[in-house]
Amino acid sequence: MQWETVIGLEVHVQLATRSKIFSGASTAFGAEPNTQACAVDLGLPGVLPVLNEQAVAMAVQFGLAVHADIAEVSVFDRKNYFYPDLPKGYQTSQMYHPIVGPGEVEITLEDASTKRIRIHHAHLEEDAGKSLHEDFHGMTGIDLNRAGTPLLEIVSEPDMRSAKEAAAYLKAIHSIVTYLGISDGNMAEGSMRCDVNVSVRPKGQEAFGTRAEIKNVNSFRFVERAIAFEVERQIELIEDGGSVVQETRLFDPDRDETRSMRTKEEANDYRYFPCPDLLPVVLDQAYLDHLRGQLPELPADKRERFQNELGLSAYDANVISASRDMAEFFEAVHSECGDAKQAANWVQGELSGALNRESLSIANSPISARQLGELISRVLDDTINGKAAKEVFQALWNGQGESADEVIDAKGLKQVTDTGAIEAMIDQVIADSPAQVAQYRDSEPEKRGKMIGYFVGQVMKASRGTANPQQVNGLLKEKLDALL
Ligand code: ADP
Ligand code: MG
Repeated sequence: MQWETVIGLEVHVQLATRSKIFSGASTAFGAEPNTQACAVDLGLPGVLPVLNEQAVAMAVQFGLAVHADIAEVSVFDRKNYFYPDLPKGYQTSQMYHPIVGPGEVEITLEDASTKRIRIHHAHLEEDAGKSLHEDFHGMTGIDLNRAGTPLLEIVSEPDMRSAKEAAAYLKAIHSIVTYLGISDGNMAEGSMRCDVNVSVRPKGQEAFGTRAEIKNVNSFRFVERAIAFEVERQIELIEDGGSVVQETRLFDPDRDETRSMRTKEEANDYRYFPCPDLLPVVLDQAYLDHLRGQLPELPADKRERFQNELGLSAYDANVISASRDMAEFFEAVHSECGDAKQAANWVQGELSGALNRESLSIANSPISARQLGELISRVLDDTINGKAAKEVFQALWNGQGESADEVIDAKGLKQVTDTGAIEAMIDQVIADSPAQVAQYRDSEPEKRGKMIGYFVGQVMKASRGTANPQQVNGLLKEKLDALL
């Protein structure tokens, strides 16, 4: 039997407001427990929430970025449940009238093909606090700093058909929210996490299978691994004559498996009802137009422009546009050197490699876009060869010089293109290598091409790497063949 995987994601994005969604308490990460929770976040009697306008603006910007319908009127509902990290006894969320309606996101797969994933809706809600299980001698501590932090929950349609597509979707959402600057997108700190809904069905069957929901997965890699495990589990279960039950599961990265947490509660268990403390949110056209006018160029637009106007391959355009910082760095390098392909190669190759090795983000790159652009210009105008360029890169990276030109001068890396000078070095090498010359002369003509490498190496060494390699090659061949 052939099986098909069906996946839908609920992504929680922490919005980058400075204060909470209904109070003035700070949202900064990492403070001492319970130093950033005020009476509103605790839901003490008699307090009233006040909606943070910034959170609304951010939700709307996301909606506009995914071509969604924005609700003229949206309403906050109370989702009632008991949990120690929720002292109010309810979470303020949006159940029936979310702020962002249906939209869509384009994802790009590894082979650079694209697919559209529909978004069902996105709604605003508040985060809960956090239970702390260590340090309390078998009891549980509660940290309410996170209570009331604004979240945007983005719910997809079940449009994904593989773990790779789910990861690509999550990456696309990550790009959009970080481009917009509405979230720092830091998954390790929990600024973005998702619930993964997975089911399987026999290939060709129209009806969906029963799904399991894997809660709070917080990395791209874990999303893929959790889905891989879950798909195996469900197929095996069904093939053994059992059936999947709708339930909530947890992914355990250490054991690479998902485990049952609780069977799925029905929506009406929560007794949703409109929050009587908050007015409906009413947005007019002028406000939406104002926010639309502030949208930056988005990843999909950049990707297209990089391909169509700058001539980058689909692959390069996709990798570079995925991060706004990288895209902007690339554009600055390109505007300095004027060669998009070279700029893309250096940013994705030498620069990304060096950044990865030292765990640095491109925003903290020790070498600036301007320095890199100038370095590339010196390769393009033949001032230095490719080997010297790597040396200049390393020197600039280490702060040994302000500009490529300065390093080239200081290290004497200027490429030797003077034919006379190169010929003199070649003559010397030939004179110093009688054995190799004899070998060259005595070998089959078709093998000589390969043997020339030895002489090129010697000449490059004699020039301390600065000779123009194409010239060396051409001249060497002439001189050696003249000896035949
Ligand atoms: P709930 O609110 O109870 O979690 P929803 O119907 O709103 O349920 O769906 C939540 C998520 O589950 C959505 O992202 C949706 O795409 C996904 N989903 C729904 N049915 C399936 C299914 N059969 N297989 C996989 N994902 C599904
Ligand atoms: Mg859900």
